[in-house]
Amino acid sequence: MAIANLWAEALGNLGIATSVQRQFLSGIAGELPPDQCLPEVWVTHPEQQEQAREVLYHLQHVPQRRWTCGCGELVEGGFEQCWSCLAPMPV
Ligand SMILES: [Zn+2]
Repeated sequence: MAIANLWAEALGNLGIATSVQRQFLSGIAGELPPDQCLPEVWVTHPEQQEQAREVLYHLQHVPQRRWTCGCGELVEGGFEQCWSCLAPMPV
């Protein structure tokens, strides 16, 4: 449930309206395989579905990076930009 809310929030931040659906599934959860009982993030506008899919893909596959910027800052996590001087990660 938490992850679906996170996704919905991330999409919302990008201007993609979503709703988290799961309530109506809980009543029949015992009859469904567990993976079909997971909460779903529904994209409100069909034309934004592809974009949403891409965003979610990236959210789930954030490469863990660790690099040192030219300004001397150590940048950790999935960031491709130095948080200190805003320089992009060197390729
Ligand atoms: Zn820097």
